[in-house]
Amino acid sequence: MSTLRIAVVKETAAHERRVALDPDGVKRLQAIGAQVLVEVGAGAGAWFDDESYQAAGAQLLQRGELLAQADLVLSVGPPAEDVLGTLRAGQGWLGLLAPLTNPELVRALTDRGVTMISLDGLPRTLTRAQSMDALSSQASAAGYKAVLVAAEHYDRFFPMLMTAAGTSKPAAVLVLGAGVAGLQAIGTARRLGAVVSGYDVRPAARDEVKSLGAKFLELKAGIAGAGEGGYARELTAEERQAQQQELAEHIARHDIVITTAQVPGRVPPVLVTADTVARMRPGSVVVDLAASRLGGNVEGSVPGETVLTGNGVRLVGAANLPSQMATSASQALSRNMAALVQHLVSDGQLAIDLEDEIQRGVVISHGGEIVSPAVAAVVAPASVTAPPAGAASSEGQLS
Ligand code: NAD
Repeated sequence: MSTLRIAVVKETAAHERRVALDPDGVKRLQAIGAQVLVEVGAGAGAWFDDESYQAAGAQLLQRGELLAQADLVLSVGPPAEDVLGTLRAGQGWLGLLAPLTNPELVRALTDRGVTMISLDGLPRTLTRAQSMDALSSQASAAGYKAVLVAAEHYDRFFPMLMTAAGTSKPAAVLVLGAGVAGLQAIGTARRLGAVVSGYDVRPAARDEVKSLGAKFLELKAGIAGAGEGGYARELTAEERQAQQQELAEHIARHDIVITTAQVPGRVPPVLVTADTVARMRPGSVVVDLAASRLGGNVEGSVPGETVLTGNGVRLVGAANLPSQMATSASQALSRNMAALVQHLVSDGQLAIDLEDEIQRGVVISHGGEIVSPAVAAVVAPASVTAPPAGAASSEGQLS
């Protein structure tokens, strides 16, 4: 039986500096009997040079040769369009591929007989899957960086400072959405000395926010938005309006607002309306982690850009913060990748088994068919190019 060849590609998306596997990950995959091939320069954006991959035992190749030899390709984001035509039936592609929002990619890989595996679909509440949870590891990096980005755009101190030149008030930070990213943002803002409040529509978030030493914002509207699997549900139009109105009062009193709200399979909810932004004080900063081509939590935020409003508020459309934490985010992602690959490989070969709960979540297509029911439900027939309206989230979580 030949050795399984696992290839790591250099990311091609604009501003993407992460890499799917670091040199430590190379060693982990070799330990399960795989040969690791790495595209020249793949780790450069995250400060892993070619020599460090070679020292770990990887073989460096140019892209064409790498893809020709690979049994399984690892990437951070979806593959570039120009490589799709070079893939062959039986190869596997593993990454954070957001299949719910990339129907063309799902079709292209499925039609070529490529086994599409996406970390977005991992059943995250399974204890044995936790080492593979890339959505959490990347959200954690994003939440941390969001606070640093906010601090960079905020023209005042975060902590209370008492100096001979006077006393500065601590920054008042409000974090909307207290999932993995939000909780990391709360902890980071606290460490910088801000006075922090958190809010989430899931009642379970209350104790988590408080345990980090932050205040939990209680809305009089009393919306309980827990959905399935620990996620939030989509609010009704009335609930949404009540939430926006009541949040507006609180938002106007804060210097910095960081939004992280997502609902799996839906466009991100708008929590901060344009009217609310207009009520904020000049010099305030809003960081929208949900900003994407599908929308965001803040009206007027633009993914990848910082917009200065007429009333002097900076709206940061923080589209890909994990990339700005390229080294730490890649190291964590690499651990997640290696753990999942170890789970997928049996006797030195990729062993697809849809009876397995983890595989049922992550394997999107195999043998020329879409095997994930959640993805099959939203990937329209080839003649239709757009996903159904309102049916996809920015990260495309499947579970
Ligand atoms: P997410 O990215 O889907 O959403 C971020 C947060 O936004 C969530 O906390 C959600 O409740 C909140 N939100 C959605 N709509 C909102 C609205 N209208 N107003 C206010 N907040 C809103 O979530 P996530 O960070 O991926 O985590 C979701 C849940 O999964 C959490 O309960 C988390 O603890 C849980 N989780 C569990 C495990 C595990 O069991 N191992 C691992 C990861 C996450």
